[in-house]
Amino acid sequence: MADFDVDLFVIGAGSGGVRAARIAAGYGAKVAIAEEFRIGGTCVIRGCVPKKLMVYASRFRDDFDDAAGFGWSVPAPTFDWPKLVRAKEKEISRLSAIYRVNLEKAGVQIIESRAEILDPHRVRLKADGREITARVILVATGGTPVLEPPAPGREYAITSNEVFDLPVMPKRLLIIGAGYIAVEFASIFARLGTKVVIATRGENVLRGFDEDMRCGVRDALIHAGVDIHFNQLLRRIEKTADGLRTQSTEGLQLDVDQVMIATGRRPNTAGLGLENAGVKLDGVGAIKVDAFSQSNIPSIYAVGDVTNRLALTPIAIREGHAFADTVFGGKPTAVVHTNVPTAVFTTPEVGTVGLSEREARAIYDIVDIYEACFRPLKATLSGRGDKVRMKIVVDGATDVVIGVHMFGDDAGEMAQLLAIAIRLGAKKADFDDTIAVHPTSAEEFVTMRTRTARYERATAGPEAPDAAALEG
Ligand code: FAD
Ligand code: NDP
Repeated sequence: MADFDVDLFVIGAGSGGVRAARIAAGYGAKVAIAEEFRIGGTCVIRGCVPKKLMVYASRFRDDFDDAAGFGWSVPAPTFDWPKLVRAKEKEISRLSAIYRVNLEKAGVQIIESRAEILDPHRVRLKADGREITARVILVATGGTPVLEPPAPGREYAITSNEVFDLPVMPKRLLIIGAGYIAVEFASIFARLGTKVVIATRGENVLRGFDEDMRCGVRDALIHAGVDIHFNQLLRRIEKTADGLRTQSTEGLQLDVDQVMIATGRRPNTAGLGLENAGVKLDGVGAIKVDAFSQSNIPSIYAVGDVTNRLALTPIAIREGHAFADTVFGGKPTAVVHTNVPTAVFTTPEVGTVGLSEREARAIYDIVDIYEACFRPLKATLSGRGDKVRMKIVVDGATDVVIGVHMFGDDAGEMAQLLAIAIRLGAKKADFDDTIAVHPTSAEEFVTMRTRTARYERATAGPEAPDAAALEG
């Protein structure tokens, strides 16, 4: 076998790359990792972690409001955006440093440079032009925001890359899109005191999620003061004396301080030199890989967002770990991308695992639905109006639970635990046999005894009162 400088060269020190590098080094491989921005990647630097810190910041608004119902008198609170940004920066710098130390402890060589591929076993470092040979190259370069639609003036807009470090909090913010990022930031900024408008091409928020959860998020955003305009496509952005003026196809004109485009992310493969090695990409520029994250070129693997499988941190981590087990640990490990729990951190939040009602009805012959919609106990004194929504989707033929959805406080925490039950193949009868924790919202998951609807394929019968609405 030819001699290489390293056994493994990882491009990108984000969630997937760092995990792969550490585990591979633990198996005795000689590993180098290149990072062109900051160690930790999107999740730590400008994704999950700072986002969740801002979610926490925003939720104090509700706590101050709710406190009165419990006897508290709270003086009118004030909010300091630069203070939050500084505190956030301190925490992500701490986390980034921990990632660095963990890589060093594992014996991984850290290279602070952009890296590009020259051939199946060779990369070049942009910082000093050095070339490094590797037995295996792992591409873990993540994703980057797309600026769609291609409206004139979109260069004036920000994306999630910039939103965390704005020097001044916008008083008026237009968000384009209604996916994860759009609704999370609408929920954050509305609570921090910004006038938020969402303009989206769709007819509801969060396409792909269960309809009832989508409606819950939409209504809660409106309740929090967010104006939502559906069926809108951004047409142009112009600079004005005191901000930005936007036009959309449906005649919506707005004067705002910032426009945030949140219309998805695409795999970060541009200019990476993948064509030099003959690596195949799909139509959106994602690296095509097999179940073991191997590309069509045997020495090149890819994990995380750059493969466009499921763009979530735990998935990138799991793929990175499985790659290292497979290639350096002698334990071939494929990653299964079904029944992945996820949360949308609006307030209240969505937690979900498994199939939505609509997906289940497209696959299974008989689908049973169990639903609860109620005012949480805390709201009885706080007076807050948001209702908790819960749904269990069951394969009517086997009684196996195939989807669980919740819109309400701590739904993300619950989705994590419910995912274990779903993974073990729990039946609805197992949920029913489980003793409740009282008084909680979660107890509803084990006390929903009455079926709300049964859908039999091709015959939405009399027991399916909501079928027409669900098609909308
Ligand atoms: P990344 O973490 O993006 O890491 C890729 C790294 O590669 C980056 O550091 C980049 O600088 C570097 N890089 C790129 N090209 C090169 C090169 N040529 N040379 C050297 N370095 C390079 N997921 C969740 O599960 N929960 C959440 O709550 C959540 N919130 C999110 C909020 C936001 C605003 C965003 C944008 C994403 C969020 N995500 C969330 C998604 C999550 O952040 C990603 O799925 C995850 O970070 C992907 O990890 P990765 O390793 O594939 O890529
Ligand atoms: P999403 O895919 O979630 O949402 C994209 C939004 O942009 C949708 O509303 C979509 O509309 C709209 N859109 C897409 N293309 C266009 C276009 N050409 N013109 C106008 N509108 C368009 O992407 P995000 O950017 O919100 O997030 C990217 C990914 O990051 C997520 O999919 C998720 O994997 C991850 N993420 C995870 C989080 C979490 O786990 N809590 C939080 C944040 C991000 P339509 O619905 O009509 O397609």
